[in-house]
Amino acid sequence: KRAFYIGRFQPFHLGHYSVITSIAKEVDELIIGIGSAQRTHESNNPFTAGERVMMIRHALEDIDVHFYALPIDDIQQNPIWVSYVTSRTPPFDTAYTNNPLVIELFEEAGISVKQPPMYHREQHSGTEIRRRMLADEEWKHLVPDAVADVIDEIDGVRRLKRVSGTDG
Ligand code: ATP
Ligand code: MG
Repeated sequence: KRAFYIGRFQPFHLGHYSVITSIAKEVDELIIGIGSAQRTHESNNPFTAGERVMMIRHALEDIDVHFYALPIDDIQQNPIWVSYVTSRTPPFDTAYTNNPLVIELFEEAGISVKQPPMYHREQHSGTEIRRRMLADEEWKHLVPDAVADVIDEIDGVRRLKRVSGTDG
């Protein structure tokens, strides 16, 4: 059994981690789609696809699931998005997502969708973590240790602050 899970992972946090550990118990292989892969160096999308691959590989080092982390660029064409995805991923049986548009598109294409339970969503959200980074508030406890290390290595908080600034 092979499953598909997509997110932007800006950054990869403990909500994503908890979903993946629970999916891992149900499937043999997991395809992790890194959405909006082409976006980087923006306040809502600070990290490159390659940096997000690094976060995921290091964070999942100890998890017993065979996974593929695949960058998926935006195509801005919802009606053909599912075939675009399936044309570049290994075949899969089930898509796991809570995103309403993604649910609608997969269901219309006849692919079964499961909605994973939310893990402390108030704090474990990319938007909240980026807000904390910009405000110099605590954020490292919301991501796997390995992800905090990657963000330190690439000086990610400095980048986020800089690309979120203005020249005013
Ligand atoms: P952003 O605020 O930047 O949109 P996000 O936290 O929503 O970030 P995404 O990268 O958009 O994270 O994640 C996409 C997938 O991860 C979605 O299916 C979303 O429902 C799921 N997800 C996000 N946060 C959690 C969480 N705390 N618990 C479980 N699933 C989550
Ligand atoms: Mg989101």
